[in-house]
Amino acid sequence: MNGKKTDAVVIGGGAAGMMAAATAARRGKKVILLEHEAFCGKKLRITGKGHCNVCNQCDVKTFLQNVPVNPKFLYAALNRFPPADTIAFFESLGVPLKTERGNRVFPVSDNAHDIARALENEMRAAGVRVCRENAEAVLTESGAVCGVKSSGGTIACASALIATGGVSYPLTGSTGDGLRMARALGHTVTPLRPSLVPLTSDDPDCAEMQGFSLKNVTLTLFDRQHRVLYRELGEMMFAHFGVTGPLVLSASAHMRSADLAPYSLEIDLKPGLDEKKLDARILRDFEKYHNRDFSNALGDLAGRAMIPILIRRSGIPPETKVNSITRAQRQRLVSLFKAFPIAITGTRPIGEAIVTSGGVNVGEINPRSMESKMVQGLFFAGEVLDVDAYTGGFNLQIAWSTGRLAGEHL
Ligand SMILES: Cc1cc2nc3c(=O)[nH]c(=O)nc-3n(C[C@H](O)[C@H](O)[C@H](O)COP(=O)(O)OP(=O)(O)OC[C@H]3O[C@@H](n4cnc5c(N)ncnc54)[C@H](O)[C@@H]3O)c2cc1C
Repeated sequence: MNGKKTDAVVIGGGAAGMMAAATAARRGKKVILLEHEAFCGKKLRITGKGHCNVCNQCDVKTFLQNVPVNPKFLYAALNRFPPADTIAFFESLGVPLKTERGNRVFPVSDNAHDIARALENEMRAAGVRVCRENAEAVLTESGAVCGVKSSGGTIACASALIATGGVSYPLTGSTGDGLRMARALGHTVTPLRPSLVPLTSDDPDCAEMQGFSLKNVTLTLFDRQHRVLYRELGEMMFAHFGVTGPLVLSASAHMRSADLAPYSLEIDLKPGLDEKKLDARILRDFEKYHNRDFSNALGDLAGRAMIPILIRRSGIPPETKVNSITRAQRQRLVSLFKAFPIAITGTRPIGEAIVTSGGVNVGEINPRSMESKMVQGLFFAGEVLDVDAYTGGFNLQIAWSTGRLAGEHL
């Protein structure tokens, strides 16, 4: 091999790769990290809307309940480096953290760059050599890693870590290269699908309300048998293609069937009021506006963009005087406020998903070291693996824990 020589090559300077590189270098290993973007942590810097939800302050059991796919695989990595260690790690690097609603941990500065910069500084202090190169292939000899081929030449090494992420938000550098490399080395990659992703609907009402957001509503996701898969209070938004926003992204992570048609959504627009209280409230408004047409009487109860749709769906003619609206008609309106239905046709493309579900088959990886069971010296960490979690800092914690474990064994 003609080019450079090192102990370990880390492919990908995202959350998992930077953690692994720093960890291995602190153990005295000579580490080269290859990152094909102009700087490391491009995705990390936009996490949590730029605030970076670093992790979730919870125990391992609670953590694994938030990982719908292959949680058991993460057991050893999480026990070795749990959320409490993540918090201690970043605070030791000089980034104070705070815990917010839902045990979500953020930097006190609310600035994701602080997390990325802390990792870059830690890599520098540990002696990691960062090269702006595109990794092309992991080279093997007699079933063991012997080097990595990159745009800069060939690097001889005995171990290589693929930490290239999934295929979501490809503009941040995660273009699926690591999955191609894994396949070329004999690994299987489970089918990729978007998770934490906006949902599409062919209901023209969504398009009509595009840009309109709902706050303090409860969103419920049902399966084919109308069983509740997800129910949460929060925010969401209508879009030209369907629905999006925090509640919708979280709900999408519970849609595990490839066939999305049987799923449906319902919005409780007034979660603070039960049907009886809501009826009394509507009645009060109708008394207040007793001479008005129905079409002009909902202003105190619903946002402007939604009123024409509520009127249409209620089946009450808009020109009806509110004082002549019957109890049965009012009941229909109450039901609509409490369970506003939205039919789902699918998801937005995987590139728009917060995480990629699917990836390198974890059955082919040793969960205690993140080393491949097929190629000696080959490691995987982060989103490239077939593990993904719900929102709340769990996905980054997967990157920290698997990256840390891999870094201890590279
Ligand atoms: C908008 C958004 C917000 C998010 N917010 C949160 C949040 O607040 N909390 C949370 O827990 N999770 C969040 N996530 C998910 C989280 O960011 C990812 O799960 C996490 O970044 C995965 O880390 P990773 O290191 O495995 O992959 P990535 O962060 O994707 O890093 C992979 C790196 O590999 C590099 N690379 C790829 N191929 C090559 C190659 N051939 N050669 C060299 N380099 C290569 C890429 O350029 C990239 O830098 C968010 C995701 C998105 C898209």
